[in-house]
Amino acid sequence: MKHNILILGAGYAGMLTATRLERLSAPFTMVNKKPYHYFTTLLHEAAGGRGNPIDYTVPIEKVFHKQTSQLVVDEVTAINREARTVTGKSGTYEYEYLVIALGWVPEYFGIPGLAEHSLQLSSVDAAAHIRQHIENEFKSYLQDQDLTHLRIAVGGAGLTGIELVGELLDWVPKLCVELGIDRHLVDVQNIEAMPNILPQVSPDLREIAKLTLTERGAKLRTNTKIVKVEAGAVYVEGDEPVQAGTIIWTGGVRANPILAESGFTVDRRGKAQVNAYLQSVDDDHIFVGGDSAGFQDENGKPVPPTAQTASQMGKLIADNLTALMHGQLMRSFEYKSKGTLASLGPEVGVGDAFGIPVRGVVAGLAKEATKVEHLWELGGLRLIADKSGDVVHL
Ligand code: FAD
Ligand code: NAD
Repeated sequence: MKHNILILGAGYAGMLTATRLERLSAPFTMVNKKPYHYFTTLLHEAAGGRGNPIDYTVPIEKVFHKQTSQLVVDEVTAINREARTVTGKSGTYEYEYLVIALGWVPEYFGIPGLAEHSLQLSSVDAAAHIRQHIENEFKSYLQDQDLTHLRIAVGGAGLTGIELVGELLDWVPKLCVELGIDRHLVDVQNIEAMPNILPQVSPDLREIAKLTLTERGAKLRTNTKIVKVEAGAVYVEGDEPVQAGTIIWTGGVRANPILAESGFTVDRRGKAQVNAYLQSVDDDHIFVGGDSAGFQDENGKPVPPTAQTASQMGKLIADNLTALMHGQLMRSFEYKSKGTLASLGPEVGVGDAFGIPVRGVVAGLAKEATKVEHLWELGGLRLIADKSGDVVHL
């Protein structure tokens, strides 16, 4: 069956394209691996034991209202530009216009053993797996008293690594009480190659983040590069290996490999190159958004791979797609930063909101506000009310 508009991926970019197309009364079909959209920006919460993993999802059918909007649950494996088809594990889909929003995968930088022997915060299932893995390790300690089971090593101190450490420091003491383990035996360490954690925030806020996390028991190791990983062991440059029952990699992201595998022109992080209107440089019937898109501003600077970028791109893609179909003028993408907020556990954080520095509970509240804003964009008050018992801890 031929689909006029086919959207691949129900993340931030894909969902915002879809909801905007509904408002513009343009029919579309979306193909996604799962029947739900998940809050990637909250995966650290799901891994750190806050709420149930399902609380971090929204069934896609709940967001779509029109009968002309269709969801197909399938895993995309290839895109054929010449034939204008997309292949999935369960079918082949023809299209006239294609929107690719297939997100990101972990970047391993070729570090031996890393992909095989580490856990990643790459989906809601992966977050649930991390939580289960830590619980199992702690239970194994009760069996054999091997302290390795109580060691958690997180590689990378960007926003993902630091938000995850903040969340683990909140959950681990509760887990220890539950299982009757002395909390002081647990070692949560973050390993970062660069001289600083959180390069995205200002130096004074970075110091606050360091203090907040170390006071709660985290070991923050900087200037420590991970060079190899084996089962239960992280090898670092110039120091003893770290023996740890839980090894989590948050050292960076790259675009979904399907783009490179399908012959798109990609950059060194596998992102498909797009023009100012977010059309693929290889085919003007294809738009690419979110972490899969290699967009550079007029100064040649790439935009950061974040949910706010993906959401802004998603909306513009819907507008440009309808403009293109109706022979109207398209608009160029202009990224507008709303700031960066890093949570350091359930209630506190550091960062800036629209350029204004925030910390502590205010930063925590500002972060909550971004979740509410996303739900509002997806489904208005109805969806906020629906999810207020779980994701939005009001
Ligand atoms: P995604 O949101 O990753 O969505 C991709 C979609 O494609 C998913 O639904 C996936 O299931 C689907 N998919 C993938 N492969 C296939 C396939 N083969 N077939 C079918 N479907 C497929 N950014 C911020 O701006 N603010 C934050 O506070 C923030 N916090 C973050 C916290 C964490 C822990 C992490 C990991 C990231 C965070 N980010 C944040 C970054 C942000 O989440 C990403 O930039 C954003 O999710 C990218 O959106 P996307 O639409 O490109 O991809
Ligand atoms: P990142 O690339 O921002 O950070 C990865 C960190 O890992 C870097 O500090 C890097 O120096 C370190 N690293 C890389 N190789 C290493 C090695 N061999 N040994 C030790 N350390 C190593 O990746 P991320 O934190 O996953 O973030 C990905 C994207 O998602 C970014 O654009 C980020 O802004 C966004 N994000 C945003 C938020 C937020 O806004 N709150 C939260 C999470 C992620």
